[in-house]
Amino acid sequence: MTMIYWCNIISAKKLFREFRAWCPLCIHDQLTKYPLPYEPLLWTLEGVRVCTIHNVKLEDHCPICKKQTPYFHCKSPYAFCVNCNAFVGDSRNLIAVQNNNDLDLSNCIGRLITYEKKGAQPNSTTFIEKVGRYIKKNYKSNLSEFSKAIRVPEREVINIFCEGQTPRLETIAKICTHMKKSLHQIAK
Ligand SMILES: [Zn+2]
Ligand SMILES: [Zn+2]
Repeated sequence: MTMIYWCNIISAKKLFREFRAWCPLCIHDQLTKYPLPYEPLLWTLEGVRVCTIHNVKLEDHCPICKKQTPYFHCKSPYAFCVNCNAFVGDSRNLIAVQNNNDLDLSNCIGRLITYEKKGAQPNSTTFIEKVGRYIKKNYKSNLSEFSKAIRVPEREVINIFCEGQTPRLETIAKICTHMKKSLHQIAK
């Protein structure tokens, strides 16, 4: 699993979360099934708010002290709060996801990181050109309407399509799910 294949197309800015997030049900499964539990890459990425296996909202606050754990904390053991040492895999207060947009986004990002690399690395010029044509055809080049449809601030959409700024992972996932296409289909 890697993001390197997409490095010419996805901005490194705001790629990773600042604070740790987790699915208590996955932690429970891992602790009962595997001798060495691991932290999925998917949970570390911005834009992923839902567990794609259990369809529940990812937790990001300790259930006991309510604090957050920074990702790159030096003594941050998996599945335990760095502030109070509590086990964070408690699944009693889980919120089932009602909003399919968040699940679609998490699934889209999941497919990106497990994508089997084929051919040359895609680049952002092709992506921006193709999405630009889609906006022209479906939104009569109205970036404001398009930004509302994909739920991304208009300023960010203008920066990408008028100034050629490399888009963030979450924005790319929103565009892909809106166009019902994979990033590879759009950028190839
Ligand atoms: Zn899960
Ligand atoms: Zn705590």
